[in-house]
Amino acid sequence: MAELYKRIFLSPPHMGGEEIKYIQEAFESNYIAPLGPQVDAFEREFTAMVKIPYAVALSSGTAAMHLALRSLGVGHGDEVIASSLTFIGSVTPVIFQGATPVFIDSDRVSWNMDSALLAEEIESCKKRGKLPKAVVPTDIYGQCADLDQILNVCSVYNIPVVSDSAEALGASYKGRNAGVGARAAVYSFNGNKIITTSGGGLLASDDEKLITYARFLSQQARDAAPHYEHSQIGYNYRMSNIVAAIGRGQLKVIDDRVKTRRRIFTYYQKALGNVPGIEFMPEASYGCSNRWLTVILITPEVFGADREEVRIELEKKNVESRPVWKPMHMQPVFKGCRVRGGAVSEDLFCRGLCLPSGTAMTTDDIDRVINVIMECRRK
Ligand SMILES: *Cc1c(COP(=O)(O)O)cnc(C)c1O
Repeated sequence: MAELYKRIFLSPPHMGGEEIKYIQEAFESNYIAPLGPQVDAFEREFTAMVKIPYAVALSSGTAAMHLALRSLGVGHGDEVIASSLTFIGSVTPVIFQGATPVFIDSDRVSWNMDSALLAEEIESCKKRGKLPKAVVPTDIYGQCADLDQILNVCSVYNIPVVSDSAEALGASYKGRNAGVGARAAVYSFNGNKIITTSGGGLLASDDEKLITYARFLSQQARDAAPHYEHSQIGYNYRMSNIVAAIGRGQLKVIDDRVKTRRRIFTYYQKALGNVPGIEFMPEASYGCSNRWLTVILITPEVFGADREEVRIELEKKNVESRPVWKPMHMQPVFKGCRVRGGAVSEDLFCRGLCLPSGTAMTTDDIDRVINVIMECRRK
């Protein structure tokens, strides 16, 4: 019977309409290449919107984090502090640089890096005589971390903060856009993010030198010379001109996408918010989440079914949902890495389910998801 229903995806791409116009421009000018006027325009339009003065458009958010860490001098033997509750793309660049990640648990207010635990960890690093080289908090599911608290803690020892705002474009923190105020900020335009270029990322900063260096590294670290001269090792991380054309169209609709994601969240919350055993991801009072994904917590003893039972039931009805990110300190690949706290993100992983939140969803689609969840309740 499931085939009768079209599949509802977690967060599929949603084009605004103008993307094709910019792609056409790129074709007509024959800039079917990395670099070109669409990339320049995309960077310009992005920085104007987010209000961070310098930016380099890249092939992915992971590449953006990698260039940020490399530009900040993270290297072999260093430690970098990260959120445990995040996507692995936030952390693999630490390993690329030969450094070691240290994980911090979430707080209950925002599900982001707990700044009190961060302060404890940094004090303990200080006692040990080895301060972290950088701190990279994630803005999880489109909600900003408490950046000012994190900056306060880090400014004591001049530790740079790189905001992983890959999921949070369009969100705000104390009236600033996600990522503003950090030493550098990372964004992603992967296929399931709030806006997408099919795949892509961007690194932004107030520091022009940092962005100039990251741009240099992203294009194979080519020195100024008519031939190809290299005195450093770089990467092929630049965004292509065609991909940037899609991004320009998507930037036009970001406000609408945030409104729609928030509307979807509210719709779910109205229907399920009073159901015993279901809670919704909280919104911290300091900001406005983009509600990239609507996330619920299911308490099985009260609700009558656990997270996995609900997820499997949804899957049977051709609805894609997904457990909350498995914390990094629980990942086999990071076995043995230090973690401060951990119980909160473990609980969020155990009970958390991300519901379909794509901005092209109809009310009927959302009702379908809600009905399946309601059917899972203990009779
Ligand atoms: C998507 C994502 C990334 C990585 O972005 P890519 O463009 O997929 O490389 C990094 N961090 C977080 C938190 C993400 O959600």
